Amino acid sequence: MLRRFSSAPYPTDSDSIATRLKEKRGWDCEGCGHHGSTPRRVLTVHHVDYDPSNNHEGNLLVLCQKCHLALQQGNPPHLIRQRQGQLSLEEVNHES
Ligand SMILES: [Zn+2]
Repeated sequence: MLRRFSSAPYPTDSDSIATRLKEKRGWDCEGCGHHGSTPRRVLTVHHVDYDPSNNHEGNLLVLCQKCHLALQQGNPPHLIRQRQGQLSLEEVNHES
């Protein structure tokens, strides 16, 4: 059963999804390559299509807060621009 709160747009299991993803990507920021040396280091998960319910791996980026903020301000770090170029539209838009 999915329980959601209007004030929390993320699914309740997003923490474990985020943790698995960060482990898989080696606790490195995908924007600047900064390594989060411990799981407590603040790394965030960004949804490429800005849809928090789309937790398809191709839609997720592990970012430090600095890169996450830069991306939200429309200034994606170099590594993100590279990665976005590699993403196919099919990967991001899986609704067709
Ligand atoms: Zn970063």
